[in-house]
Amino acid sequence: MRNSLRLGVVSGIPIGIHWSIALIAGIFGLALAGTILPAAAPGYVAAAYFVTAAMVTVALLGSIVAHELGHSVVAQRNDVEVSGITLFALGGVAQLEREPDTPGAAARIAAAGPAVSVAIGVGGMAAGIAATASGAPALLAAGLTWLGLINLTLAVFNMVPALPLDGGRVLQAALWRRSGDRDRATISAASVGRIAGWLIVAFGAWQFFTTGAGLWTMLIGWFIVGSAKAESIRARFNVRRREWAPPQGPAWPGPSGWPGNGSGSTWAPPSAPPQRDDVIDVEGQRVG
Ligand SMILES: [Zn+2]
Repeated sequence: MRNSLRLGVVSGIPIGIHWSIALIAGIFGLALAGTILPAAAPGYVAAAYFVTAAMVTVALLGSIVAHELGHSVVAQRNDVEVSGITLFALGGVAQLEREPDTPGAAARIAAAGPAVSVAIGVGGMAAGIAATASGAPALLAAGLTWLGLINLTLAVFNMVPALPLDGGRVLQAALWRRSGDRDRATISAASVGRIAGWLIVAFGAWQFFTTGAGLWTMLIGWFIVGSAKAESIRARFNVRRREWAPPQGPAWPGPSGWPGNGSGSTWAPPSAPPQRDDVIDVEGQRVG
């Protein structure tokens, strides 16, 4: 993602932040300071809510990075290089250099992110309970509990079996293992993703007309539809190319001057590097 600010490097992976992350930070920070924390722990001065909200928001962004690192570290262990992690308006994205070699590797890489979110979620909830039990300030307990809840929500939402969400990648891997055909598995998983995306758009529209909120939900649904469509187009292209080209040998020399011309290499379509996109379901964590 362009125009991102480099935060640091973890496990050899540069971590960046795109300016659009301000949307998440703003929405969550204001909801926490204005509604969630005052409802959960009443009686504090406004400044206390703002400071706690700012810290919890930073911790949330850290949780998203941890989720992406979960995908990335498992990808590296499966010989898939990761060129970077970027936080943006709809969550995080880990840029994988190529597709995993086996369905098993694909499923492990996909499941690792939500596994990290579940671990942080359970840890946050447990810390919140411990804080309450030990008589710590209610505001601290409320912040920790909320952080736990949002991470569990993040895990559940991302495991919806709709490409490009993590659950969609697990589905894609399962179909790939069953059929032995990665591209057709992608096409099937992407169809589910498009349907789920449109349902989320419809839900957002319903929310918009009933409560005035929902624009964010519609944006997330639209993003899922668009990503699923792009993956489907790429997979269909691969299927066609495979069907047209003989299994071995020179297939399409290409115009003179093209790289690979004369060397017998098969023409390959330009394709974007695979990415793991993660989306935060903001409306799922609605305040009140
Ligand atoms: Zn993920």
